[in-house]
Amino acid sequence: MRLHGKVVLVTGAASGIGRAVSELFVKEGALVVASDIAAPEKSYSAGIEALQLDVTSEAGWAAAVGSIVRAHGRLDVLINNAGIIAYEPLHELGMAAWMKMIAVDQTGVFLGMREVIGVMRPQKSGSIVNISSIWGNAAVAGAHSYHAAKGAVRNMSKNAALTYVADGIRVNSVHPGFIHTPLTDAQAPALNDSVIASTPMKRGGKPIEVAYGCLFLASDEASFVTGAELVIDGGYLAQ
Ligand code: NAD
Repeated sequence: MRLHGKVVLVTGAASGIGRAVSELFVKEGALVVASDIAAPEKSYSAGIEALQLDVTSEAGWAAAVGSIVRAHGRLDVLINNAGIIAYEPLHELGMAAWMKMIAVDQTGVFLGMREVIGVMRPQKSGSIVNISSIWGNAAVAGAHSYHAAKGAVRNMSKNAALTYVADGIRVNSVHPGFIHTPLTDAQAPALNDSVIASTPMKRGGKPIEVAYGCLFLASDEASFVTGAELVIDGGYLAQ
């Protein structure tokens, strides 16, 4: 019961890491609102409330956070997890593809933090966990827009951590390496194999292995942790 009584909003919760976070957090005593752009799921465990939220929609964020606060009186944790990936190198990247990536993976995080900070400041407490990537810290060739957005999320998290430290709000980023999810399952096997081959543990991670890191950062166990980046990558970034 490491999150007993906490009200948590998770984005991109219909699959992969977001789903694992939602299921773990409810087991740990949280009231979880699992949101996604996809229509609300009926298959979540008891205790999880499903909500439709496109993280690129400013009005959507206001409506989602407003409904949570009206129903539960507070919001303790935001897991900004929703994301997409794309692999175009810079010279092939069109404006529409660039704008879509920035809208989901970067602006979505900005809108989410801005909305919940409005609730957390008067509460004088809150924990925000932004899911970045190993590719927010280090580069591979191609995937220009993803690197741009995930690198921004890393620094946006540190900025928010410092800006709201006196308000009792902690902000941290999580940097997964290769994790087996529907996102990576949809990628070319050769690409996945090459990332796993570059991972010192020589395997991909499981969504639950990222969820446990999010659990620590969301919980009061991390009361002295803000502006940190938690790398969960089988050793990838240590090289
Ligand atoms: P996933 O595709 O399994 O889940 C992502 C979810 O986000 C999906 O349910 C999707 O419907 C939702 N989503 C997409 N666009 C959205 C939008 N506009 N609004 C709301 N929801 C939206 O992917 P995943 O692997 O679980 O990825 C989760 C996060 O982890 C992403 O931010 C991703 O970049 C990051 N990440 C994943 C890996 C990996 O190897 N899987 C590695 C590093 C970082």
